[in-house]
Amino acid sequence: MAAILAVHAHPDDIEHLAAGSLAILAAKGHTIRIATLTAGECGSASTDLADTGRIRKAEAAAAASLLGADYRCADLPDLGVFNDDRCRRAVTELIRWARPDVVITASPADYHPDHEAASQLVRDACFAASVPNYRTGPAMALEAIPHLYFMDPIGGRDREGRRVVADFAADIAAGFALKAQMLSAHVSQADWVARQHGIDDHLGSMQAWSRRRGRDFGVAVAEGFRQYRHEPYPKTPRLQDLLGEALVMAASHGPP
Ligand SMILES: [Zn+2]
Repeated sequence: MAAILAVHAHPDDIEHLAAGSLAILAAKGHTIRIATLTAGECGSASTDLADTGRIRKAEAAAAASLLGADYRCADLPDLGVFNDDRCRRAVTELIRWARPDVVITASPADYHPDHEAASQLVRDACFAASVPNYRTGPAMALEAIPHLYFMDPIGGRDREGRRVVADFAADIAAGFALKAQMLSAHVSQADWVARQHGIDDHLGSMQAWSRRRGRDFGVAVAEGFRQYRHEPYPKTPRLQDLLGEALVMAASHGPP
């Protein structure tokens, strides 16, 4: 059995982009851990920072518990995630805590600065976590660099509007109901997403994106992933193998 860490910037990002795959992996008996770098405490116009952070961490923990997953927050500031020394040490400690074989994180290009910084931080922390003399806190250094994967960006596009092509996808039909349940645990976000993003139907936007990725890969609903393969990160297809019959390799991307 493997340990899989899904880590992203804010509560509910993982529910949009990877929770169906996590549900499938959890059903196979793998250990899932979910982490966010921030509590998403800026994600409200009706409650203050402290209350919003508390509410959103509780929602994230409730969503994770539906998978039987532990949840942890690195407590970096919302809209204050930067690729600097303090943040890299905090994220490295988080990865050492999770002791993952596989890490799935944010896309390097995405709509939100915290997402892009999270992607860089997690990438570099996967390396740093295996360096014993890089000290971060109580958690022990990892024995090896974990396999690293990127989720899709929100909406599947980079900042210039170009479509981001996934290496492979998970057919999430078997995990879709749980994914929807997990996103629904983020009760506080329905009003916020309507106000800030003009999206009246939080759950519907996730469903539409999952169907869109499904069309790209010839299945009903899917989540796309890319593997980070630069030196000295592991290049073997660990997540692909863990997905088993849910793995879909043949992308047939439609018009841009
Ligand atoms: Zn986010």
